[in-house]
Amino acid sequence: MIQYGKQNISENDIQAVIDVLKSSHLTQGQAIEKFEQDLTKTCQSQYARVFSNATSALHCACLALDIQKNDSVWTSPISFVASANCALYCGAKIDFVDVDHLTGNICATALTEKLIAAKKINKLPKVLIVVHLAGHCCDMEAIYKLSKAYGFSIVEDASHAIGGTYKGKLIGSCQYSDITIFSFHPVKIITSGEGGAALTNSKSLATKLSLIRSHGVTQDPNLLTTKSEGPWYYQQILLGYNYRMTDIQAALGASQLEKLDEFVSQRNKLANRYHSLLRGSMFHPLTPYNDCLSAYHLYIVQNSYWCKNDKLRIFTQMREAGIQVHVHYIPIHLQPYYQNLGFKQGDFPNAERYYQESMTLPLHPALSEHQQNFIVKTLLELSEPGNNKTVHKTNKVTKK
Ligand SMILES: *Cc1c(COP(=O)(O)O)cnc(C)c1O
Repeated sequence: MIQYGKQNISENDIQAVIDVLKSSHLTQGQAIEKFEQDLTKTCQSQYARVFSNATSALHCACLALDIQKNDSVWTSPISFVASANCALYCGAKIDFVDVDHLTGNICATALTEKLIAAKKINKLPKVLIVVHLAGHCCDMEAIYKLSKAYGFSIVEDASHAIGGTYKGKLIGSCQYSDITIFSFHPVKIITSGEGGAALTNSKSLATKLSLIRSHGVTQDPNLLTTKSEGPWYYQQILLGYNYRMTDIQAALGASQLEKLDEFVSQRNKLANRYHSLLRGSMFHPLTPYNDCLSAYHLYIVQNSYWCKNDKLRIFTQMREAGIQVHVHYIPIHLQPYYQNLGFKQGDFPNAERYYQESMTLPLHPALSEHQQNFIVKTLLELSEPGNNKTVHKTNKVTKK
């Protein structure tokens, strides 16, 4: 099976993990500090805090921004469920902003309209979580201006986007946001097995992130509410969690980070190759803004002509041919859990249209040109009207 995404592990990565295993600290050691420092350098932010995964980092970001019961958080319906769940963990109310159906990213016009309406009924959001789908950055300048006009904080769920840029600024530099989140799950751009990070330029947010990540416990004399009782002394000053990353994971993450540029350029090279192979066909790719570099976590194509049945048939036959196509994402508001909260079909029509029309093709640094040719050839043959059955059989034979 040609996987839609997968990790790329080198001998150096393996050695970095072995070194930690032979060292004195498997967790809460120096590999964590190194990875955090390397992240701030690479992404040009002031602070970085690593987490057990991006989901826990998102949860902590909401808590650090003081999201409480009944506060309102908005995000994109086209994302992994974690982008919305993190607000619910805090007891907040979640709502969605419809996307531009050609990018799958939050639409600044839809956001403006929703803000105007929310202001009238005094229901403005406290935090907006934007998602850079596939690694293509949202229209951050416009969204940032709206955040100033309406007084909300911004979290970038950049799980897909480490290594990318927006108008010359690195994703993670938090130029247009309070906190940026990365995921280091193995299908993402770089991996630590499981892992996530929160980057910020705010010292007080960084302090809160550290506290919430580790039980709300501190030994920092500046944070203690009374004088220290001795070198053993610590205090719990808020209710935190254990959302820490291990040093084993951090060493892998730091080693992977060294290859970030290489991974992103290889992904872009393959994406450009897909573009040319698909040019003139009924499939058009999601594309980043002109002055942005996408990290290309995903290569998503859209087809505005196919009906639901075409998509199901082509998807199934692609999988049968050994190609792990995927769909990113089923709109979050259509998940049964979210429908139970009151969301329904028709609430975010562009997100629903995006979902109908989109399919993800395999993309990762080790994908070969030969595999890529096979993927496109199969996709185009299966899409030709009338002769799908024969093509399907031929593909099975070619594979074996
Ligand atoms: C992968 C992903 C997450 C969750 O990341 P984990 O590290 O698996 O918790 C959150 N949001 C988006 C957009 C993702 O792609």
